[in-house]
Amino acid sequence: MDDHLFLSCNRLGRCVVSQYLKGILQFRLYILLKDVLNFDIFLKGRDEMALITPEQYERSLRQRKNLRIFMDGQKVKDIFDNPNIRTVIEANKASYQWALDPTSQEIMTAISPLTNDRVNRYLYICRSREDLVAKAMAGTFAAERLGTCIYRCPGLDAFHTLASTTWEMEKNLGAEYHSRFIKYLRWVQENDLVISGALTEPRGDRKKRALDWPDPYLSLKVVEKRSDGLVVRGAKINISGAFAAHEMVVLPQSAKKKGEEDYALAFGIPTDTEGLTYICQYSPYSAEREKAGDIYELGNPLFGQRETSMVVFDNVFVPWQRVFHMGEVEYSIKFVERFAKTHRMTCGGTCKVGFMNLIIGACKLLQEYKGLEKAQHINDELTEMVVLRETGRACGLASANLGREEPEGSGVFLPDELMGNVSKLNICDAFWRVMALAGDIGGGLIVTLPSLKELKNPETKKYVEEFLGFGSEVPHRAYFESDEASPELDSRTAWGGDMARGRPGHGSEDHDSKDRRL
Ligand SMILES: Cc1cc2nc3c(=O)[nH]c(=O)nc-3n(C[C@H](O)[C@H](O)[C@H](O)COP(=O)(O)OP(=O)(O)OC[C@H]3O[C@@H](n4cnc5c(N)ncnc54)[C@H](O)[C@@H]3O)c2cc1C
Repeated sequence: MDDHLFLSCNRLGRCVVSQYLKGILQFRLYILLKDVLNFDIFLKGRDEMALITPEQYERSLRQRKNLRIFMDGQKVKDIFDNPNIRTVIEANKASYQWALDPTSQEIMTAISPLTNDRVNRYLYICRSREDLVAKAMAGTFAAERLGTCIYRCPGLDAFHTLASTTWEMEKNLGAEYHSRFIKYLRWVQENDLVISGALTEPRGDRKKRALDWPDPYLSLKVVEKRSDGLVVRGAKINISGAFAAHEMVVLPQSAKKKGEEDYALAFGIPTDTEGLTYICQYSPYSAEREKAGDIYELGNPLFGQRETSMVVFDNVFVPWQRVFHMGEVEYSIKFVERFAKTHRMTCGGTCKVGFMNLIIGACKLLQEYKGLEKAQHINDELTEMVVLRETGRACGLASANLGREEPEGSGVFLPDELMGNVSKLNICDAFWRVMALAGDIGGGLIVTLPSLKELKNPETKKYVEEFLGFGSEVPHRAYFESDEASPELDSRTAWGGDMARGRPGHGSEDHDSKDRRL
């Protein structure tokens, strides 16, 4: 089998485990030091490095007021106690940890020319092709370690489009949007904040323009222009992790035409601004997490599945100094296109690469547990998965390597549009194919596993260890309790359930049989 495959598979288990151990050690060190050093985001002096600790991040979230958030028909009283929301906080904390960790600092931070200081990669605007490549690599790095969304990438991609387009608007129109944005960016970098990015909207009948919809607020719209700012009404939907960010950056979702000036909008607001309501997604995985007595009964225990919410703007006030686009309809499309090309590189060519790596590594481990290392068709399937993964990575890197300054003179580098689009289109198919192959290697147990609680139940423990241990001499190496398997694979969550459910009745794929594909 190919060396790269071996490397990736072996690296997988170790990196997941070593990340957890490293996290625990660093957390303990922090606990020892925090009282002595009295860390606090709001006590940070101007001379200190901008990077804050994971615990400072969590503490800063606790200082927010007015957070109105609903899940499963109920108001969430304490976001820190909510098991689903907690996963987003933990993922963001990991991104703070990586920035401080000397072994990952190079990839997860960069020196900002605005602050002359080290800032988190998720707040740094690319100024060269090398920066774009580093951004791409950071996306894969994060996905491999989280096994879920790095909630900070829509905000970073929104920052790229804002830096580029506000520069162009200020140059062409004399508007002060760029100066405002740069001031905002510097403040965000100095305080090491988490930013979410919000474009997607409910929208009405797609055959019609917004002005013809009976409800004009199905796209975010200005309600009132005041001397001190704007009042807006509408909603953004599917927004990743916004409730655990400090700030939300809002961009137009689509091109705007003359007459649609009140929809041509971009701004940044604190996530606890009055008038905002978060209505969270809720799925069987959310219910499973709420029901679990111990998160370690779940797949991806700490970081969970990707969490989004609908964000309702019910007459929300935005001060002028936070408005970066208002009414210049010919520029709305530039915000959208520049976001799309940046995000497609990130989402298609980097983070899905990391997820695929986890799934492939987990499949390799399953192959070994079952003693099927020599089964040629499984090795072929693993090889195909690696080829799909590396094609995804190649598209992302090509997009970064062909990136250019846009517009010329702005100092902002954006990925290549064609390769960004190819990244997305390629990964849309490749990801499902990898899941289908993983479903084959995993077999029926991916869908039919009993609960991990059976390992704590004296009446069933011995049976589960015996019959799901695949003959292993180490009881805890039971199929579904492997501490090396990927967080996505551990308990059926997130990847295989629906795919594998379509596979019963195919019979077992006997590795001695010549015709294995029946
Ligand atoms: C897990 C997750 C996280 C996300 N996070 C974010 C986030 O952080 N921020 C954010 O802004 N967004 C986010 N999104 C939203 C995501 O970007 C959108 O879901 C995506 O752009 C598709 O838009 P849509 O869901 O409205 O689908 P639709 O636009 O409804 O698309 C459905 C189908 O209809 C077709 N279609 C739609 N309109 C037309 C038309 N006019 N003509 C012809 N065909 C049409 C589409 O091509 C597609 O085939 C997230 C989505 C997911 C699933």
